[in-house]
Amino acid sequence: MSNEKLADLLFPSIDKTPNYYLEKYPKRNLKEGAKVVRYAPSPTGFQHIGGVFAALVDERLASESEGVFILRIEDTDQKREVEGAIEDTIATMRNFGMHFNEGMTGETTEIGNYGPYRQSHREEIYKTFAKSLVIKGLAYPCFCSAEELNQIREKQTDMKLTPGYYGEYARCRNLSFEQVKAHIEKGDEFILRLKSPGNIENRVEFHDLIKGDISFPENNQDIVIIKSDGLPTYHFAHAIDDALMRTTHVIRGEEWLSSLPIHVQLFDILGFHTPNFAHIPTIMKQDGETKRKLSKRKDPESAVSYYREEGYPVESVIEYLLNIINSNFEEWREENPQLDYREFPVALEKMSKSGALFDIVKLNDVSKNVIARMKADKVYELYTQWAKEFDKESYDLMIKYSSRAKEIFNIDKDGQKPRKDFEKWSDVKEKIFYLFDELFYMESSEDIELPKNMTLEEAKHITEAYIKVFDINNDKDSWFDNLKSLALELGYAADRKSFKKNPENYKGMVSDVAGAVRSALSHRNNTPDLYTIMQVMGEDMVKERFKKFLEV
Ligand code: GLU
Repeated sequence: MSNEKLADLLFPSIDKTPNYYLEKYPKRNLKEGAKVVRYAPSPTGFQHIGGVFAALVDERLASESEGVFILRIEDTDQKREVEGAIEDTIATMRNFGMHFNEGMTGETTEIGNYGPYRQSHREEIYKTFAKSLVIKGLAYPCFCSAEELNQIREKQTDMKLTPGYYGEYARCRNLSFEQVKAHIEKGDEFILRLKSPGNIENRVEFHDLIKGDISFPENNQDIVIIKSDGLPTYHFAHAIDDALMRTTHVIRGEEWLSSLPIHVQLFDILGFHTPNFAHIPTIMKQDGETKRKLSKRKDPESAVSYYREEGYPVESVIEYLLNIINSNFEEWREENPQLDYREFPVALEKMSKSGALFDIVKLNDVSKNVIARMKADKVYELYTQWAKEFDKESYDLMIKYSSRAKEIFNIDKDGQKPRKDFEKWSDVKEKIFYLFDELFYMESSEDIELPKNMTLEEAKHITEAYIKVFDINNDKDSWFDNLKSLALELGYAADRKSFKKNPENYKGMVSDVAGAVRSALSHRNNTPDLYTIMQVMGEDMVKERFKKFLEV
């Protein structure tokens, strides 16, 4: 058979058959409903938040169904490969708590029985299937130069036809064995094309798990399946890999939806069972009136490193992404404040069909709640970890005053309304700086905040009087009683009601007196509970702060 002769001429070193691989990677023995999914990034750059978004959908679905989560590296476009990108992907995924059951664990290491999991290491597999298509007369070598392809395209454009390599325009479709042989002997490079049996008059019906029912014309283009460097195109590798890795659900970006006709055709021609497909929406951003794709160049939040540097806990980013994945996550979280996010059931059919909108304000809000729910020890631990890398000064203070720091993070933790002061770790310093002399005394006196309508002189006057009644050993009630008597003594109302009744009789009310004391201690108008702050600071620090305040 000349097809066989042609196949041997094109792939002389390939001696295996598709069956060999189909047996080597048998159907998986998993429980009913278990999903086999893969995150399949190309190492062409550093991880984008969209990658974490896609991987999270995969990871949740695999984990919920007790399935398999694979990391496959799609590095067939070697010209676009960026050094370090594989390591970065692996580290990022690990950092976001994505645990792969199979796949690459390093640039050259991997786990699992369905590998290799790096496409450039699977060349022989792709060629085996390519060779089998040549034997069946469903693939052929093409020697057309870029110039020739241009000519074809120009001719088609002139005739108002769909451009491309198909039907009568597929020049190399009918090359004889001798013609091919002559090219090969001359050392001409070739690509391998599919001899598409498709007809655009026929429509294919398809159900996408996110997009719903769709239909499209059959593919009639003789698409490239093996490139001149011997590596497959995305289309071919996708079909072979997902068939041999026994993927049940291909979850990928919606930019691939338009190639689905090719993929469905390839699965069919190769005799593979077609997996389920779910095309996830692209992450968009509101930019003025319009929505646009989150851009690597314009939007710092598109890079995963941004979240680490700003100090968003991983959990915050994940919970935020879960909000985008399924909008009912928010309600679930409100109803189940204590549950781990892993208990939320992710459902593909609840995902938005069009663009997912990324909104940093919402992320901040989610993150505030995530941090508020954390125990003080965890806040301390994560903040210290972050500071070690991004804020050495704070890190040193966290280590030196660890028990004070934990007390600070524990302020108003329990109870109905826990404090929500931090959205991210980079917010922490400005909110707690006054609890450390090392930071407090660095601030200029111009930055002192005073209670509304109060002069520095009056604040000092109050502080001076307060020093005399201050006793660190008072419990909260007597502490407050003290403050009230002092207020009255100094001409302030002991409570809001009396003040409202006869404002002309008073200089202000007890909250203004407390405000002056707060300013003296923290130089801020807004802090957690004043009594607690004084307890955290301790007697010496409080007294010293008062003394220094009088000298300002
Ligand atoms: N390597 C492809 C990409 O990065 C993956 C698409 C897929 O998941 O199949 O876009």
